[in-house]
Amino acid sequence: MNLLLVEDERKLAVLLKQLLEEERYSVDLAADGERGQELAETSRYDAIILDVMLPKKNGIEVCRWLRQNQVRTPVIMLTARGQVHDRVAGLDAGADDYLPKPFAFEELLARLRAVMRREDRNGDGTRLQVADLSIDLKTHQVRRADAAIDLTAREFSLLEYLMRNANQVLTQQQIAEHVWDTNFEGTTNRVAVYISYLRNKIDEGRSPKLIQTIYGVGYRLSG
Ligand code: CA
Repeated sequence: MNLLLVEDERKLAVLLKQLLEEERYSVDLAADGERGQELAETSRYDAIILDVMLPKKNGIEVCRWLRQNQVRTPVIMLTARGQVHDRVAGLDAGADDYLPKPFAFEELLARLRAVMRREDRNGDGTRLQVADLSIDLKTHQVRRADAAIDLTAREFSLLEYLMRNANQVLTQQQIAEHVWDTNFEGTTNRVAVYISYLRNKIDEGRSPKLIQTIYGVGYRLSG
């Protein structure tokens, strides 16, 4: 597994590289945004760990540029703790996940495994599964454990979007744009309402709860 680590704090970068290499990842380092972008564009990586505050070009700009240029490598953004704005901006720019600094190394490993697992999971594309919840994209059948669940068309497209991006935090804005096409006023309220409909059908009386609210940021579906 090849990783790109874009981090300007030299000590942290060297330490992370060493720890990741002990986990048998091979790691390229970039110390500023421009270099990171250049490497991400020209080499093939399984995932990119991207700091937000970087010299020359910040992590959010780098991530947005990559997505605009069809580089779809999973990105985990390293944000300052408490900077909700950075997290939302990072996710809106196309990051797959974020990790507030300082973080436990184990957590970075877990996030890496999650974003890379998502990348592998192509299959024939007709069925999505997270924990004991599965949906059939052709027949629109939804099941949790042994129970069939009835969803409206809108609830189904919301669930499909959450499942396609499982383990990833999605902002209300992202959900609104994908599930409601247009970005009209009040759509984000609608997102919260539909999330609660979906929760009642998917999670009510069941465990674990698959739909999580990430306060101030958005929602995540994970098993
Ligand atoms: Ca930094």
